Amino acid sequence: MALVLLPSSLEVKSPSPPPTEMVHMQKNPSPRSTSPVDLDYHGDVKLRVGQSKDADGLAIEPTYFTACSRTLARISPVFDRMLYGHFAEARKPTTPDQDWIVNLPNDKPEPMGILLGIAHCQFLAVPKTLTLDQLYDLTVLTNYYDATALLSPWVDSWIACMDGISKQDARVLLPKVLWVAWELGKISILEDTARRMLLEVDGPPFMDTCEEEDIQTPPDVVERIDAIRTQTTRSLLEVVGDMTEALVVVDERPRWCRHAQWMGHHKCESMILGSMTFCLARAGLWPLPDAEEVEYSILGLYGKLTELVIHDIGEERLHDAVRSHAECNPRRHVLRRLRSIMEELPSSLTEMHMATVEKQRHRLMAT
Ligand SMILES: [Zn+2]
Repeated sequence: MALVLLPSSLEVKSPSPPPTEMVHMQKNPSPRSTSPVDLDYHGDVKLRVGQSKDADGLAIEPTYFTACSRTLARISPVFDRMLYGHFAEARKPTTPDQDWIVNLPNDKPEPMGILLGIAHCQFLAVPKTLTLDQLYDLTVLTNYYDATALLSPWVDSWIACMDGISKQDARVLLPKVLWVAWELGKISILEDTARRMLLEVDGPPFMDTCEEEDIQTPPDVVERIDAIRTQTTRSLLEVVGDMTEALVVVDERPRWCRHAQWMGHHKCESMILGSMTFCLARAGLWPLPDAEEVEYSILGLYGKLTELVIHDIGEERLHDAVRSHAECNPRRHVLRRLRSIMEELPSSLTEMHMATVEKQRHRLMAT
């Protein structure tokens, strides 16, 4: 059995070192070079994988994998078309002394090494654990080559890396978890992640981060999360917006104060309005911002609005009659509206998403 040797360039990308049996340490990393990987002594095709420059512009040699073209065609319809279809790469050398080289500059050597190791039955060299970044890269690759089902026997030991994502890392890591769960047909992880992304994470839209970081995501899920978040933020702000408008109407219009005819309504409404806007200002929400500008997560905003301390002027005595303005305090009314918005929150995933991920789950189970 040929030993899979992965290039030294892999070591810098992973926060925790890959398993030692998969790594060939280079003593002189400059200039950065990689060792060829022999997956099959009788291999008839060399895959030249990776860019010739790394992210910092430093020269790096792509990794060569010697593989069996029939094996590649068997595990992936994309390789099948590439090697035996009408692609330019399918042009085999015309003489026996020429190498058949296929250039794959857009693929990463590390996940390719894992996929090809599995495809060539080098199971002992398959890592038992992966970091989230490694698993994400691997599933992006297998998605492209339509070969994710091949990972099935290792999936349950790999997905532990998706546990315990902290709030600080959530903005970049949760979209990766979303992708991995989608690609591996892990329905409950997908649902939990989509819900966390919708409710818990502060900051700008996820699509901005995904575009900046070039993170692959399931179709229309992140866009939907961003849209629901903005709409929900708008609805939550409208509750206090409507309330403040009701408190500043001109005298001829119906007033919020239950005892407006006693002329005490100015004091009553001013107290309510003043205490509300004071709390909103303390939370950075006054004047009320546009929903797109709010950086709070939905849960964060909901928390701020439910914690508003709204004062009222209490009892007022006028001409021997006592009127209680505690009845005018809109606290319960505001809380009821806020709660009802949260209860009616749409799901981050549509029925179509659920049907697709269920299909993917079956595909992986069938292998
Ligand atoms: Zn009142």
